[in-house]
Parts: sequence; structure tokens; C-alpha cells
Amino acid sequence: MTDHTRVLIIGSGPAGLTAAIYTGRALLNPIVIEGEPSSTTDQPGGQLMLTTDIENFPGFPESITGPELMARMREQAKRFGADLRVSKVHKVDATSRPFRAWLTDDVEPSITADSVILATGARSMMLNVPGEERLYSHGLSTCATCDGFFFRGQDIAVVGGGDSAIEEATFLTRFASSVTLIHRRDSLRASKIMQERAMINEKIKFAWNSKVTEVLGEERVEGVRLEDTVTGETRVLPITGIFIAIGHIPNTTLVTDLLPLDEAGYVKTSHGSYTNIDGLFAAGDVQDHEYRQAITSAGSGCMAALDADKFLESME
Ligand code: NAP
Repeated sequence: MTDHTRVLIIGSGPAGLTAAIYTGRALLNPIVIEGEPSSTTDQPGGQLMLTTDIENFPGFPESITGPELMARMREQAKRFGADLRVSKVHKVDATSRPFRAWLTDDVEPSITADSVILATGARSMMLNVPGEERLYSHGLSTCATCDGFFFRGQDIAVVGGGDSAIEEATFLTRFASSVTLIHRRDSLRASKIMQERAMINEKIKFAWNSKVTEVLGEERVEGVRLEDTVTGETRVLPITGIFIAIGHIPNTTLVTDLLPLDEAGYVKTSHGSYTNIDGLFAAGDVQDHEYRQAITSAGSGCMAALDADKFLESME
């Protein structure tokens, strides 16, 4: 059986659920395909499901956990009639109207939609070493802006040699006693100006030619095992926090054949959430490699909902 909806929202992070709240309140009865849990770093609710305390989302002065914030957004979306489904979209056809979507295991499309909001987010690249998954959110993080505050007065490390790693390391020196930048080569990929900023920062140390082979600690991060990429020697660096900043991958698989992507692989949008296909909108981290915050993602979901509403009205 095929369900028809005015708005199909793909993704259930802050962008998707904010779009659901707005389109729900506009009486558009959105269907939200939330995703399916497939690993620690890939589950409905997106990256916030992996975050402990969120202290910078306005309206929660005592902080709120990532999973609780997402649960509240879900409840709010449901209150306004959003139909939330735990499933994955594995194919979208936006070449003819109505748009069609195939869910997990579908051979035939099971949803048709007058408009689609793509809010599939992005995921951090991970090291895939022992200890990493277990200590995620227990001293291991992928977001300095989110978690830096918890590492006041501590010795911590950042992995990576690009602009993100330098930006995170520099930001973290506001809180930490020292930040060791662990990089697998002996020169940075980051832009010259960022490099200079890091070099003159007395709190930033460098572990050159170093590869993390294990994150150590039972309950919380206590150190990392490093291997010298030139000599093969190993050593333990004692730290209480580690930030992985080796890049992000936007979740664009559904639209790689449909939409132009920018040079970093993110969906190109203009004037808010418009893509180059009328009625197909993109919101949140799948189209933003600049800000990547829960609040900017939510704002982007709101814009997509307003854009979709305007589009549907113009169709009538
Ligand atoms: P990036 O430029 O791709 O750099 C990734 C870094 O991580 C590289 O140094 C890479 O090492 C290292 N790396 C990758 N895989 C690794 C692994 N498995 N183990 C250890 N290290 C690994 O990514 P990014 O820093 O996130 O930047 C992405 C884009 O956003 C860039 O265009 C960047 O300029 C931009 N950006 C700009 C700003 C800014 O201007 N303020 C801030 C952040 C990001 P290698 O160097 O050896 O390949």
C-alpha cells in the first residue's frame, strides 16, 4: 500500500524534527522517516543522540542531555500530528511528481509526496580503533563547541591536521591546561593562518607522525596509545579527553544522482533550503559544513518547513 503525504521529511535530528513541528502546525500532516539504529554512530535522532550534556541550546539553562532534547522534539512533533516512522529511505525519485520514496526492504515505493525535506545530517569520520566506541561521550568527543567546557584544567588531545582540528584545538585551549594535536604526518593540512595561530598558542603541543591505535580507559578516557608512523615505536599519552576532528561525511547517498553537491560533498542550497529541484528541500548538516550546531540545524529545519509550505501553496 502506498501512503501519500504533502511533506515527507527524511531524518530525525534537530533539522528534521523542527521541520516536522512547523509543517505539523501548518496542518500539512508530515511523514517523518526517522532512520533505523544501525551502529552507535548511526541512529534516529542523529548526532545529538551521542552527546551527553547540551549547555548551549537556548531555553535549557540547567543543560539537557542530547537524547532528552531529541525525545522532547519528537514529542512536540507528534503533538502537531507528525507521523514518525522508524525506517530508512533507501531510494528517492524526484524526477516526476509526486515524488516517490522506497523504505527499507521496499521493492515498490511505499510513500508518495508533494514535497520532500532532506534532513539526513552528517556523521563524523571516526578512527575505528579499540576503545573509541566504548568511550564515546565518556571523554571522547567529536565536537569541541559542544563538550569543551567539560575539560577545564585538563590535559587533552585533538586528532587531525586540517582546519577543523586546529580550530577545535585552539578553541579547547580556553578550557584545557594543554591540548596535544595528534597528527599522522609531520606537516599540517590546515590553512597557513590557522597553522600560525596554533604554533603561537603556548597551550598547544604537537605529536607529529603519530597514529592513535587505541583509546585507553574503562569508564572514562585515561590516555591514548600512539604509534610513530615513521619508526613504528609505540607510547602512551596520558590524557583525560580526546576530540576526533578528521572530517565529516554528509549523508547524501539518497541524492548523489539527483542534486549538485559542493566541493566538500554537501548538498548545495540557495535562499534558505532550496535545491535545484522544485519541491525538494535540504536542511541541517547535510547542507551545512560551516556551523554544524543543534541550534543552526533546527533553524535550518524551520526554514525548510516554511519554504515547503510556500511551495505547496504556490502549487495550489
Ligand atoms: P580535512 O581538511 O579533510 O582534514 C582532515 C585531517 O584529518 C587531515 O589532516 C587528515 O590527515 C586527517 N585524517 C583523516 N583521516 C584520518 C585518520 N583515519 N586518522 C588520522 N588522521 C586522519 O577536514 P576538516 O579539517 O574537517 O576540514 C574540512 C573542510 O572544511 C576543509 O575544506 C576546511 O578548510 C574547512 N574548514 C574550514 C574552517 C575555517 O576556515 N575556519 C574550519 C573547519 C573546516 P592528512 O592531512 O594526512 O590527510
